[in-house]
Parts: sequence; C-alpha cells; structure tokens
Amino acid sequence: MYQLFKPSLHAQRHDFVVDFVRRNKPKKVVDLGCGECGLLGRLRFNHQIALLIGVDLNGAKLRKKITFERHCTGDPYKDFRYTDASFQWHDKHGLAPLSADYLQPTFDQLCVQLYQGSVTQKDARFRGFDLVTSIELIEHLRLDDLEPFTNVVFGYMVPQTVIISTPNSEFNPLFPGLSGFRHSDHKFEWTRMEFQSWALNVCSEFGYMVEFTGVGQAPPGQEQRIGFCTQIGVFHRLMVDRVGPMFGDNAENNYPYTLVYSVTYPSLCDDNILRRILVSELLFCAEKLKKEWLEKLTDKLEEVNAVEKDETGGECGEIFWSNCQEPQCHNLHRHVSVALQLLCTCCPKLRELSRSLSNLRRLIVDDPQIKMNRERSAVILCCLEQGDEEPNDLTDSGYAERSHVEEENWEITC
Ligand code: SAM
Repeated sequence: MYQLFKPSLHAQRHDFVVDFVRRNKPKKVVDLGCGECGLLGRLRFNHQIALLIGVDLNGAKLRKKITFERHCTGDPYKDFRYTDASFQWHDKHGLAPLSADYLQPTFDQLCVQLYQGSVTQKDARFRGFDLVTSIELIEHLRLDDLEPFTNVVFGYMVPQTVIISTPNSEFNPLFPGLSGFRHSDHKFEWTRMEFQSWALNVCSEFGYMVEFTGVGQAPPGQEQRIGFCTQIGVFHRLMVDRVGPMFGDNAENNYPYTLVYSVTYPSLCDDNILRRILVSELLFCAEKLKKEWLEKLTDKLEEVNAVEKDETGGECGEIFWSNCQEPQCHNLHRHVSVALQLLCTCCPKLRELSRSLSNLRRLIVDDPQIKMNRERSAVILCCLEQGDEEPNDLTDSGYAERSHVEEENWEITC
C-alpha cells in the first residue's frame, strides 16, 4: 500500500506501545496477533518486563524464523541458556539473548514465549497480565468472533491495561487509488464513531475506562474532520483487585494454545550464573592484587636482603605483611592469600554482585577453581611458575593459620 508516513505507520504503532511500556512499566505483557514479532523484538529491551508473550493464530508465521536443535556439546552456556536442558532454540525474530546478555548478565529476569492459538479461546496461562496489546488484529476477526475476543480479553484475561489499534476508515480516502479495505484479509474497517461505540460498550460491560488516541496524523487542517490513520483505544481496568473470570465456565484448566518458542534470559538471579560471573571477577581481581603485591614484595625482599647481607651475610626466610589489609605471603610455599573482605573493598563490582560477604562465601566455596583457607575468609592463589612442584596440603604447610584475616561486619545493601 502507498506509504504516506515516515516513520511508517507500522513503526509508529509500535513506538506508541514501546513508549507506553517505558512510562508504565508493566511486568507481564502479552501481544495478541503478534505476527512476525516485531513489537516483541522491541519490547524485550525494556528491563522491567519479566514475562513477554506473543500469540498468533498463524503458527507458520511464528515458526518461520525459528529452528529447534540439540545442544552442541561443549557449549559453555548449555546449562542455563534455554529453559529446555537438552535442546536449544534459534530465532531470527530477534527474541533470543545476545552475546552481551551472556557475557554481562544483569539481575533483570526475562522469559519470552510464543504461542500458537486463537484470541477467541480462553487459555488459563494468560490471566493476570499487566498489559495486553492487540495491534491491527481485530479487523482480521470475523464480526461474530469479536464477541468471543472481547469476552476472552476483558472478561477472562482481565489485564490491568489493554491497547487496541485498528484502522480508521475515515482516513481511507487519503490513500491514492485505494478502494475497499486497506488489506485483503480485513473483515471490517471502522469509523471513529464505530470503534468508540464498541469500546465504550466493552467498558461498561467489563468495568474498564478508555482513552482514544491514534498515530498517523491527518494533513494540517484536516485532523478534526478525519482523525488519525490508525485509531487506538487504551483501556484501563477500573477495579484494581478484580481477578475474574466473569464467565463461570471451566476455562480454569484450559490450555488450548501451543507453545512454539520459549527462552529464558541469563540472569544474575540464577545462582549458577551469578557464581560463574562472580568467580571469574574474583579471580581476576585477586590475581591483579597478587601481582601488585608480589612486585612490592620483590622490592622489599631486595631491600631486606641487601641489609641482611650487609649485617649477617644470611638469607631471608619468610616474609609477611603484618597489616591484615595486605595479602599474606609465604615465600617458602609460594602462595598468596587474599582476604575476601579485602577483595570486596578493592573491587566494587564484586561487592555489587555478591551483596554480602556471607553470600560471596556461600557462592564460591564449592567452586573447583577457588581454593580457600580453612576459615573460609581468604582465597589462596599459587605463585608457582608452570612446572614447579606445588605443595598439596596448604593446611599442613601452616599456611592457613597465617592467612587468617579478621573480618569486619561487612554487608552491603542494594
Ligand atoms: N500485531 C502485528 C503487528 O503489529 O505487526 C501483526 C498484525 S497482522 C496485521 C494481524 C495478525 O493477527 C496476523 O499475524 C494474524 O495471523 C493474526 N490473527 C488473525 N486472527 C487471529 C486470531 N483469531 N487469533 C490470533 N491471531 C490472529
């Protein structure tokens, strides 16, 4: 169809919803008649959304860009990447996590799902959502499906907010050469009056209020006469506590929609992911501190050796920093211990991730990459060069006692 708008009308409709979501911060959102998931692909970047669902009757459309494969072995993310443990989804809808989501996960939680099903059917999984969107869907429904759709959305799903968009037929004369409807699959196109009277009836029947707006401005001077190209109703539920359903049927245990795609984003709320990130951050910080301190130690040793050689001609045995805020180093066994508390002081990211010292200890204590002292107050790093023989038992070496560091009562709030 002739394109009158820039950005396109399609983009403006999605902009409208994205902007609404940004301002109103719904946590659970379902897009009915999601088509090729363009809107979902944009909404997934809204950090407060925890559950984002698309529903469409056309399964081929949903599946077109998705493949479902067995995991390759050796995939480092295989344990947490997808909800299903042995298969993974690939999608080109832009709904799957990006590399950055794995490399730098946040505490946000997001699950994206696509279902094949008809909006005229009740499915118990879709109740209690904050926002339901229906963008350019209703005009594809037969008129006798409009009532079941209304019952499902407003009477059964009973979301906090519903956004419905549909063409405004009063705008059609402005499309050059258009006769009939804007799309061959449209079953009807409404004037503003028709849409508004349907919407107001819905409100009075189901306890909602509606605001009318739209996107796609009419030419200057014709705004009032013609209205927006796409008309939009934003419905707000009046009774906040109402959970429905209004219809006393057996839909409670009904799950007629078919799950086509499901992906859970990596989140630091998952202990396995938090542990992985925490351990790598901790080892990085600890190694950095160790390196700095060993350089200092070498300088100090050289000074002491020079003095002792002058005074006694003897060798230096063990050197420790007496200050407990420094690393503990035993040069005979060539290990450095770094107190957890010190690590958290020096590494804000570690503090932010672990939230408390006890939580940090809990998360790392069983990790095979981490060696800790007996009191679990410090991590122990080896200073041996490759090929050097490492002592097996750090406790026997007397190391652990020496590495004990008094812990402050450290907790952070976040
Ligand atoms: N909302 C999308 C957008 O803004 O890009 C796509 C809108 S497309 C014009 C209408 C969609 O509604 C189609 O993908 C169609 O398959 C879907 N649809 C039609 N009847 C439906 C029904 N009864 N239940 C669910 N989806 C339906």
